[in-house]
Amino acid sequence: MNEVTKISETMFGLGIESTAHTFSCSIMEYDIVKRNGKIISEERSIYKAPSGSGIHPREASRHHMDKSPEILKQCLKSANLLPTKLDIISYSAGPGLGPCLRVGAVIARALSSFYCKPLIPVNHALGHVELGMMLTGCNDPLVLLVSGGHTMILAFANKRWRVFGETLDLTIGQLLDQFGRYISLSSPCGNKIEEFATNSSHDYIPLPYIVKGNDVSFSGLLTAAKSNIKKGCDIQNLCFSIQETSFAMLTEVVERALSFTQKKEVLIVGGVSANTRLQDMLTQAAERQDAKLYSCPLNYSGDNGSQIAWTALCDYQSNHRNIEIENSFINQSWRLDSVDVNWRF
Ligand code: AMP
Ligand code: MG
Repeated sequence: MNEVTKISETMFGLGIESTAHTFSCSIMEYDIVKRNGKIISEERSIYKAPSGSGIHPREASRHHMDKSPEILKQCLKSANLLPTKLDIISYSAGPGLGPCLRVGAVIARALSSFYCKPLIPVNHALGHVELGMMLTGCNDPLVLLVSGGHTMILAFANKRWRVFGETLDLTIGQLLDQFGRYISLSSPCGNKIEEFATNSSHDYIPLPYIVKGNDVSFSGLLTAAKSNIKKGCDIQNLCFSIQETSFAMLTEVVERALSFTQKKEVLIVGGVSANTRLQDMLTQAAERQDAKLYSCPLNYSGDNGSQIAWTALCDYQSNHRNIEIENSFINQSWRLDSVDVNWRF
């Protein structure tokens, strides 16, 4: 275990995100006394798949390799900080695409060993949740994590984020992106589908609505939506109907979880949380349950390095533990509910 490199009231952490389409570096400052943080600088580059195709892991990892030098250099430059001034180096260790995760891990290991800084692996889903809480200021929320890689309803209990419900097959992001690619949009497609839905005549086309207990399933909905395209249905109304159906499913399970847990806050994080129709539905559900909806600020709803830097700073402050280079890892299917969160009570 490395020594704490600096005793001071603030710490600087570098976070590297590379789980899927985004390569991002962020430098955050952590105030040890006030236990709050500030994003000093953040840079991102997003891999764009050709229209009609999904993320190709090898091509995305090549993008990350190509872009990482300028992103890291620019991040340090904007923060006006030398790498020697960093207190910790962190990287997203999973879940995610293996070749992409390896890029962030290799860069983090190299920086950590060259500059003798503690190395912290971060669970990417935890990063979405923790940065969302920090930026919105909520205290004890029921969380809806909706992104390309996740669809989960979470509540904190006994040191871990517990899964109250999740998807049984596709994530909501996969539903939107796979349908979008089917109609030849470029991935990620969620914002274009939202635009089509908003501009549609709002004529609802019936689609399968599948909620099992507190879990949801989107694969039947995707198959039905695709077959409606073959039948010649209007694309904009189909986008509207996909949103109405899938978001109503999510709202149902969130409302049931709210009623059960009696939480007074709902936090929505992940790239799909940018969707205003989903936010509207959840706001109404929260009001019915006497709770308030908090939505991660748009610029931080998708994947970014600040999620990793912030979570690592909280983690390191809570236990001063880091990982030896030879034990550092990536885990493509690292579940959020297997991670101890020692800084929450
Ligand atoms: P993330 O994995 O957190 O970076 O989120 C990426 C996912 O968010 C992709 O599946 C996008 O299609 C989706 N997304 C981004 N913006 C929107 C939006 N306005 N509405 C719905 N989904 C969106
Ligand atoms: Mg994500």
